Amino acid sequence: MAPSSSITIDAASLAAPSAALCLDFANTVAWRGSAPDDSLHGFGDLLRWCRARNFFPAGALRAFEVFARRAHESAAVFEEAILLRESIYRIFFAASDDRSPVDADLRRFNRALRRGPIRNALDRVDHGFAWRIERAAVCAPTMLAPVLWSAADLLAGSSLTRVRHCANDQCGWLFLDDSKNGTRRWCSMSSCGNRAKAHRHYLRRMRD
Ligand SMILES: [Zn+2]
Repeated sequence: MAPSSSITIDAASLAAPSAALCLDFANTVAWRGSAPDDSLHGFGDLLRWCRARNFFPAGALRAFEVFARRAHESAAVFEEAILLRESIYRIFFAASDDRSPVDADLRRFNRALRRGPIRNALDRVDHGFAWRIERAAVCAPTMLAPVLWSAADLLAGSSLTRVRHCANDQCGWLFLDDSKNGTRRWCSMSSCGNRAKAHRHYLRRMRD
């Protein structure tokens, strides 16, 4: 477990995450089935990933930046975030095969969910609403709160049956099948789909 920190983020309003945010986070490793390519190499990468998603207000991002200077503690938070990412990946990969996850992965996920910010109040913002979170220590479950919520909502919701893993075994990316008849097989037609089509075409030509 990451050490407790005296650096905190202020109370804030966080937008509800998209259903696929947790899958985007799991997909920060590409080509899991062949030569895995991880785009997160340290706390700075994790912070950049969070910043690009626009979930946290500027004050919280500044607290994360200050925390990044504590090399030892930020390395521990990063390590925990990666363990969580891998558990989330395995939980959803199992779900995409209609299997139960390994107990240890669900336990790790639930522990993080309990340690993260609590969602029990809404704020009125602009033309809508956002989850209100109270002041919280900087830790992996705080930084990944939108990811954890997204994963929990997806796991407990009706879209879970739409979670797929790419039919290209070398790819390993997860995605939410939003096709009308639920028959999407590839993470994206422009990469894996076309690659498979070209490969089939090549095999056909070899046979002819
Ligand atoms: Zn793919």
